[in-house]
Amino acid sequence: MEFFSRNDNGSMMAEDVSVSFLARQYGTPLYVYSEKALREHFSEFEQSAGDFPHLICYAVKANSNLSILRLMASLGAGFDIVSGGELARVIKAGGDPAKVVYSGVAKTESEISAALNAGILSFNVESEAEMERISRVAVSGNTTARISVRVNPDVDAGTHPYISTGLKTNKFGVPVERAFNLYKRALELPGIKIVGIDCHIGSQLTSLAPFEDALDRIVMLITRLKNEGIVLEHIDVGGGLGVVYNDEVPPSRKSYMDVIINKIRGLNIKLICEPGRSMVANAGILVSRCEYLKEGETVNFCIVDTAMNDMIRPSLYQAWMKIEEAEMNQNASDAVYNVVGPVCETGDFLGKDRHLQVAAGDYLVMQGAGAYGFSMSSNYNSRPRACEVMVSGSDHRIIRKRETIEDLWRGEEL
Ligand SMILES: *Cc1c(COP(=O)(O)O)cnc(C)c1O
Repeated sequence: MEFFSRNDNGSMMAEDVSVSFLARQYGTPLYVYSEKALREHFSEFEQSAGDFPHLICYAVKANSNLSILRLMASLGAGFDIVSGGELARVIKAGGDPAKVVYSGVAKTESEISAALNAGILSFNVESEAEMERISRVAVSGNTTARISVRVNPDVDAGTHPYISTGLKTNKFGVPVERAFNLYKRALELPGIKIVGIDCHIGSQLTSLAPFEDALDRIVMLITRLKNEGIVLEHIDVGGGLGVVYNDEVPPSRKSYMDVIINKIRGLNIKLICEPGRSMVANAGILVSRCEYLKEGETVNFCIVDTAMNDMIRPSLYQAWMKIEEAEMNQNASDAVYNVVGPVCETGDFLGKDRHLQVAAGDYLVMQGAGAYGFSMSSNYNSRPRACEVMVSGSDHRIIRKRETIEDLWRGEEL
């Protein structure tokens, strides 16, 4: 289902609300999310798993707004976190810490301690040194840490190098052979309870093959561990399922879940997955206002009020994101533009070579902006961060106020 599409008059809608109405009401740059989309995406994962024991742990870093976390919690989701800050957000939003898995290569002592106090489901351990540290912190807190080892299965996810995480050369996880030894070491360590195994091979995967390759390697390791008397409660397959930005053809949530469940059926193990992008990317748009049109020698620029500080994916990953007019402006002429923002960097662009029929003052809609949009935003160039709005049917409400100028220097001293 399309949650952001044109009505019969050619107006872009967010569910039942016109996007240009929202832009006038709340100003731009503006993130708009569809509650219906979030519910539907979650329920597709949930229903695809069916009776198979499972937990969908939404990857908080994709979009960590409290309202979105609260909605996920209310639907029964667990959470994949990568920092103490994300744990605090989950708790603040009413999420259940007992459904939290904690990934990340640099967990500090205080972060580990906070996660132990909260009683999380599992630490996804990324190195030998981290395992030792978790053991020490657990012992000194008189408690036991539940752990999984994050295995780096050395598969090429076939995605952009910056979002590929399962190769030997990446900083994440430990190779299969070392993982085996790390489990044996974990048996000897006090304050450690082995509960699972984990991997996450990359993001925006549009084929199931890398997931299958990774899973085959993990399943072999699970069998070896069983032979050593190490029996796991869960297998965490990470996130990474791709979405449509342009003309990609990613697998459906259903076929993704089917393939995974088929590989682990019979192992008597619970499935955890950590979808981020697939949950939120196409549940959100980013609305900009065209400030100026500028003719260059060789290219035309459509200069908007949104910049790389609001949405860094095009600059950081050369990501292609669809940009459309919020209304069809019959008085504007059709031309090809580089859509650029106000930030003083040549890398500050939202899209290049785009056909748009646009005039100054018109609103533009960037699709697929719900994931790694606001959560990667910054105040670079002293730009207050955008407002976020949630739409549900014909209702709409602010879920994060636009930052004020005073917010820019909060905590600073003269
Ligand atoms: C980023 C991340 C995810 C989510 O990845 P998506 O591609 O957004 O689904 C899941 N698990 C871990 C460990 C991650 O780092």
